[in-house]
Amino acid sequence: MRTGKIVVVALVVTTFTVASGAWLFQRSLMKRHARPQPPTVAPPVMPDEYQRRPAPGGVPAEAYAAAPIAAPAPGSVTSEWARKNEAAIAALESEDFARAIELLEECHAANPGIAVFAGNLAEALARAAVAEHGRDSGCTLCIDRLERAIVLAPARLELARLLEGWRLERAVEGEFWNESSQHFQLSYDGRRNDLLWGSTRLLNELEAAYGDLGLLFGFYPVESGRAKFRVVLYERAGFSLLTGLGDWAGGAFDGTAIRIPVGDLSAEESRLKRVFRHELCHAFVREYGGDSVPGWLNEGVSQWLEREHDAERNEDARQAASQLVGQAAIPLESLTGSLASWKDERAITHAYRQSLAFTGYLWNQHGSRAVLAMVAGCKQGKTPAESFLAEVRLPLADAFEAFQAQ
Ligand SMILES: [Zn+2]
Repeated sequence: MRTGKIVVVALVVTTFTVASGAWLFQRSLMKRHARPQPPTVAPPVMPDEYQRRPAPGGVPAEAYAAAPIAAPAPGSVTSEWARKNEAAIAALESEDFARAIELLEECHAANPGIAVFAGNLAEALARAAVAEHGRDSGCTLCIDRLERAIVLAPARLELARLLEGWRLERAVEGEFWNESSQHFQLSYDGRRNDLLWGSTRLLNELEAAYGDLGLLFGFYPVESGRAKFRVVLYERAGFSLLTGLGDWAGGAFDGTAIRIPVGDLSAEESRLKRVFRHELCHAFVREYGGDSVPGWLNEGVSQWLEREHDAERNEDARQAASQLVGQAAIPLESLTGSLASWKDERAITHAYRQSLAFTGYLWNQHGSRAVLAMVAGCKQGKTPAESFLAEVRLPLADAFEAFQAQ
């Protein structure tokens, strides 16, 4: 019996652990020396993906959870169908979706009562749909395939939620214009003059951020085979509908696209530079380190690198650190997994500040290589502590202690 593992492509991810991110809009509006507000009035600096709330009917705020591909029970089908199923599994593993679907269609047509074949066909259709949707969110075939998968596997509610999200996305973005540059596809409402006239500047800004992050990471995702990054600009209402994020959010990366609300480009263009860098950094982290990069590292690196210059980074980290004074540090182990259950906004804010301050500390004390090695190591199944020890010959826990002592 053979069981194939599925490569999961997340549509939207909720947790702190993956490359989902949104940039805090208000932060850019906060005056550095603003008069302090009473604590009951002053909201904490609201971090991004922790605050994600699924919008009613919005894109599901969870990953598409793939199901395992199974072999039929011994003796339940003839060896011909068992062999075809085997071949389909092999085709799926090499992402030859068309071949896998063809084989499983045959298995299912000849054995309609064998649930394993119906389930495997549903899975192959869903994987093909997700892969195609990642390349072209406007494709109709992927919606057709997902609809068929749902008929075959009605118990997989996550597929229905995924379809609902895709339909919503299509409803919001249906008439959007697309413009491409070397590494990006920019989508926006072409009836908006501010975006129409500003799109070239925005693409130039994105390309500059890509070049800079590529240099820092020593890695260029598109040149390494990834599709161009999709960046979609929305009115605030469309953004909130799709992402479930409120007015505080300045952007989001959901694993497939960078989504950014823009009310009036002329008034917001200066903030977009940081938003682009922050969200693109999440995208780089995902490509470079996979889906299991812990939250503190993912958000720390993205906050640190959203600034272009060292002096700005250090100033941000210094401010974050100063706001941590007198508060107990959150153990790194608490910042690895999902914090979706966290309710306390101040604790969440603390987590973000600490992530930035600690990442900045590591970057300055032990070098960018040490930080990026921790990200890269996640893709090979190593913990950041293992990667850090291998790179720096120092336990990460010791570095964390030294950071706290500062
Ligand atoms: Zn973020």
